Order: sequence, then structure tokens, then C-alpha cells
Amino acid sequence: MFKVDNIKQNNDKQQRISTHSHIKGLGLNVEGNVSNDSCGLIGQHQARKAAGVVVELIKMKKMAGRAILFVGPPGTGKTALALAISQELGDQIPFCPMVAGEVYSAEVKKTEILMENFRRAIGLRIKETKEVYEGEVCEIQPIEMDNPLGGYGKQIHHLLLTLKATKGTKQLKLDPSIYESLQKQKVEIGDVIYIEVNSGSLKRIGRSDSYATEFDLEADEYVPLPKGDVFKRKAVVQDITLNDLDVANAHPQGGQDVLSMMSQLMKQKKTEITEKLRHEINKKVDKLIETGQAELITGVLFIDEVHMLDLECFTFLSKALESNISPIVIMASNRGNCLIRGSEDIYSPHGIPLDFLDRTIIIKTVPYTREEILKILRIRVRIESLDIDEEALIQLAMIGSQKTLRYALQLLSPCSQLAKVYFTTITTKILDEINELFCDCRQSAIILNQENSHYLK
Ligand code: ATP
Repeated sequence: MFKVDNIKQNNDKQQRISTHSHIKGLGLNVEGNVSNDSCGLIGQHQARKAAGVVVELIKMKKMAGRAILFVGPPGTGKTALALAISQELGDQIPFCPMVAGEVYSAEVKKTEILMENFRRAIGLRIKETKEVYEGEVCEIQPIEMDNPLGGYGKQIHHLLLTLKATKGTKQLKLDPSIYESLQKQKVEIGDVIYIEVNSGSLKRIGRSDSYATEFDLEADEYVPLPKGDVFKRKAVVQDITLNDLDVANAHPQGGQDVLSMMSQLMKQKKTEITEKLRHEINKKVDKLIETGQAELITGVLFIDEVHMLDLECFTFLSKALESNISPIVIMASNRGNCLIRGSEDIYSPHGIPLDFLDRTIIIKTVPYTREEILKILRIRVRIESLDIDEEALIQLAMIGSQKTLRYALQLLSPCSQLAKVYFTTITTKILDEINELFCDCRQSAIILNQENSHYLK
């Protein structure tokens, strides 16, 4: 499961997505045509059909390194369509949503933020075979050596553990920390001990599964357990993203989950996520893929309001898309011709440099009819469990078609608040009262033009 983790990382993202909680998919039939509205999406037949083709290409792994651009006026469902694509792809494919403006942070470089999100959109499915052994402890023998720093005392160099298992006795050479752990667990001669082996290397040992402690040694430092003593064998599949790996290796911690185990990939102390670290991780990931221990899952990076990116970011994106591990990039913009950020005077469609635009497949969204707006409002009313009169709903759809769909949707919450105060459902009277209090962006711009002289310049 990739999506929840990605979304959890950012509360804002979660909030942004909750306004689309009614979207469950693209609502297409097997031929790829719009079949129904039960998926929560209304209208936008052409865009939905195009999005369906994109989903099929992604599933067939024919979209890697490509970019898709949704363009259309504000509130015409670009983000909703991107989320519908994510729903169609399912939980097994990472989907990382971001707003382009997020790259402008005071502390972190723009390209670093883009790279982080890029790697959140690339998944790794790690396949491990977990084997569990059990054996009776015959001997616990700490092997000591002189303190290497000189002075008095001895240090435990390693621990020899002799076990009686189903097929004779065997000896394991273990890390000294394991000695301490076994002492803490009060393991004694005669006790049955639990040993876990993951993908061929000894991982955990202890009194039982819940007590078992993790090792911090290379697999070849152990005496391998002979075959025939396997108690249980399980295939474990874990999904993580490349960004999870970067973070885990930059801040290694002990633990029993797959991330902690993978944090030992690099065997290094806490560090920054640098280009070098990522490069090393990529090398290890390549190795895991080559040896069949892992599979790369190309996911989707969704960049909303992409016109907010500047020239440097677009250059980075072009380069990153060419890399052999790149997610599918889906972008959205509601801008027409505008200045490319970071340039002095270069204007281009959607504020995107032409050479980058040329690499994208563009999907257009169109304004909604009043009937479509009414249908969308009806869905949101149901999702938010609001009580609204039919007449008020029709009037709200009218407001939506005159102003914007988003404005109409935004009026629902204040209307419901006022209705609670009056102990009534949302009526046309309440809607009129609320509509008087607020204005949409177009109205605000007109007022600003008229009253410009009253404002500070
Ligand atoms: P902007 O350009 O301003 O970012 P947008 O095109 O991305 O806007 P959305 O944010 O997707 O628009 O849509 C605004 C609201 O309307 C959201 O709550 C969205 O879920 C809903 N919505 C938009 N289009 C549809 C649709 N076709 N069916 C159902 N709900 C929709």
C-alpha cells in the first residue's frame, strides 16, 4: 500500500484530497467509454476517456518517463481527474500529489523538494522469504578478547551459541550485542530459542517472535543454518518508496519492520539525504532488482498548478524524466498564456517552456453546464450529509454556473452553519444571506478595480 503513507506525510495534502472524497474512479466501461456517474465524476467525457487511455498505458508499463498535462479553466475537475487516475491504478501503484508552490521553501532547495516527491512516486516491492527456526540451547559461550583500547578487562568478541535442533547440533557465531540481549531475556540452557532468517541471512533471535532482537551483521558472518531445520517458511512482500529508503538510510534506526531492515542497506550513521546517498541507494536497488529480490513499481507524481514552477524546476523535470527510474508525471494548470517564472520576458502557454510542453500529452477539461454543476453539488451534499431544500440546491447550481463551481461548493459549509443556527435546513433564504456575505474571485477583481484608490500600493 503506497498511497496512504504518501498522503500521511502531509496533512495539507490530506485536506486537499478530502474535497474530492466523492471521486472513486473514472467510471469507464471495458471499451473505455464513460458508462456511469457512480464513480463520483460528472461530465468531462472526453477528458475521462483520455485519462482511461493513460491508465491502461501505465498498467502496461508504457508510460514511464512521460508527462501528462491537464489544462482547463479553474474548477473544471483537473485535480479530480488526476485523483480518479490514482483510484483506477489502485493502492499497489504509488501516487504522490503535490502543489508546485511547495517547492518554494526557505530551507530546502526547489530541486531537492521535486526530487523528494519524485522518489515518493517510485515504489519498490521487496520480496523476502522469511524462515523461522527453533532449537534448544545447549551452550551459550561468550568468546572474550583483551580490551583493544588497552587497560584492564576483557571484551566479548562474539558469542558461540550451540543449539540442538531436529537434525543434530549446530553452532552459531553471533554479534556480542546478542549476548546482552539473550541475557536480558534470561535465556538459559535448555530453553527453546526462536531464530528468524530473511532472504538467506540471519535476522532475529530471541525467546520468541515478540522478544527476538535484530542483528546488525553481514549475512556471511554467520554460520548458516543447515537445511532441514526450517520450522516455517513465509513469503513476505513489502511495498516501500525510494524516498522511504532515502529517509531510512539517512536516519537509520533499529526495529523489525522492513524499513529498518532496509536502512541497513547502506550501513551508515545518520546523515543528510545527499545526491551521493541517493546514488548509492539506486545502485543497491538495482542489485536487489537484478537478483530478483525486488521489483520497481513506477508510480505517478501529480504536480498541481504546474505554472508555479520556474525555469530551473522545468530543466530539472526534463532531466529527471529521462532517468531510467522516473515516475509518470501528471500536471495540471488553469493558466492561459503567461510568463514563465524565473524568466524575464518569456511567455508561453500555461507558463510552461515550449520544449517541455512538447514532451507532454495534453488533456483538456471544459466548463460545466448548469445540470452538471447540479449533479456535482448533489453528490457533495450527500457526502457531507447536508440538509438542503431542492429549491436552494437548484439556486446554488445557478450561482455555480454564473460564478464558479468551486465557489458554489464553498458556499455549502457556511450555509450549513447558518442553517444550524436557525434550526432549519439550507433554504433559499439562507443561501441568499450567505451569498451576500461572500464574493467569488471574479467579483473581487471587479471590486478591486473600482476601489483601487482606497488600497495601499
Ligand atoms: P483549479 O484549476 O482551480 O485547480 P481544478 O480544475 O483542479 O481547479 P478541481 O479541484 O478538480 O478543479 O474541482 C473543484 C471541485 O469540484 C472539487 O471538489 C472536485 O472534486 C469537484 N469536481 C470537479 N469536477 C468534477 C466532476 N467532473 N465530477 C465531480 N466532481 C467534480
